[in-house]
Amino acid sequence: MEFYLPDINRYDNMPYQRVGRSGLKLPRVSLGLWHNFGNSNPLENSRTMLHRAFDLGITHFDLANNYGIPGGTAEENFGRIIARDFRNLRDELVISTKAGWNMWPGPYGDFGSRKYLIASLDQSLKRMGLEYVDIFYHHRPDPETPLEETMGALDQIVRSGKALYVGISSYSVEETKKAAGILRQKGTPLLIHQPVYNMFDRWVENGLMTVLQEEGMGCIVFSPLAQGLLTERYLCGIPADSRAAGPAGFLTAKDIQPDRLHQVAELTEIAHERGQSMAQMALAWNLRLPGITSVLVGASSTRQIEENANALKKLDFSNDELLRIDQILGKPLKK
Ligand code: NDP
Repeated sequence: MEFYLPDINRYDNMPYQRVGRSGLKLPRVSLGLWHNFGNSNPLENSRTMLHRAFDLGITHFDLANNYGIPGGTAEENFGRIIARDFRNLRDELVISTKAGWNMWPGPYGDFGSRKYLIASLDQSLKRMGLEYVDIFYHHRPDPETPLEETMGALDQIVRSGKALYVGISSYSVEETKKAAGILRQKGTPLLIHQPVYNMFDRWVENGLMTVLQEEGMGCIVFSPLAQGLLTERYLCGIPADSRAAGPAGFLTAKDIQPDRLHQVAELTEIAHERGQSMAQMALAWNLRLPGITSVLVGASSTRQIEENANALKKLDFSNDELLRIDQILGKPLKK
């Protein structure tokens, strides 16, 4: 494809939700570039996925310094695509990146020091060819660096204009409260939390959502499909082109356990009764919590992006459906 002309009807169907008590809105479905955008993936597929997403009203793309194989290449490829196809659309996009996991050798390329976060964001901006990102996250808590320093770095980043908003990822309930308090004192609101949340990992239900509401923060959940487990992808074996068969190693054949598949097969029956695919029901189920601003999905094809965006056509659940889902999820798994 030579030229990309965005669909003029792209804003007709996607709902946008306010992020906590901020002025920013995000699409209910956002796209993450953790997998399938690095140098080991065909650039043309990454490019058409971004086009399709944007055409469907998905205005938010989420990255991190270390995404892609090798780390950093997702940002580089994204930068190429942005320069080529989205040059005049920057103001219609919300682009995020992060630092917090190991990125370069030595003591300054990991965790949460001011030294690491400032240097990493500068590198990310260079790789993506951007002047600023919309949201910059601290990617995971750092048990050693004082939280004052990490939050001070986020405050400095906003004041320097390199990010418009800041967020945190995978912080506990207590850490979130403290981080929000520190940033409030500095006059820079903490916009958003990015936790894992899906039918198999429900930790956010134990206090985090309440704190986010109290603090006026949004919530964008990662791995809402448990990396693909909460879809119909693995019901008949492990496809050769799936994440579990691929080189990344975050989802492997060991994670595709028979009891899990049994649960997914039972859940799929409910999804089909609702007129949805398993993936669509899993996304709708996440969005049933009022505090969830957006679900951050990954995808390896445009077809998956279309299917996932179509989840928004049916978000309501009957009490009976919710009860049956809880019963299936509550069954003990063999160790
Ligand atoms: P998901 O749980 O959405 O898993 C995505 C994978 O599921 C896809 O790559 C695809 O697998 C499969 N899939 C997606 N849609 C469908 C469908 N409709 N039918 C069948 N299979 C489908 O999310 P990710 O784990 O990819 O995480 C999403 C984003 O969240 C990341 O890109 C990243 O931006 C962010 N993230 C943040 C983290 C953090 O620490 N803050 C950690 C992890 C992720 P396949 O490739 O096999 O086709």
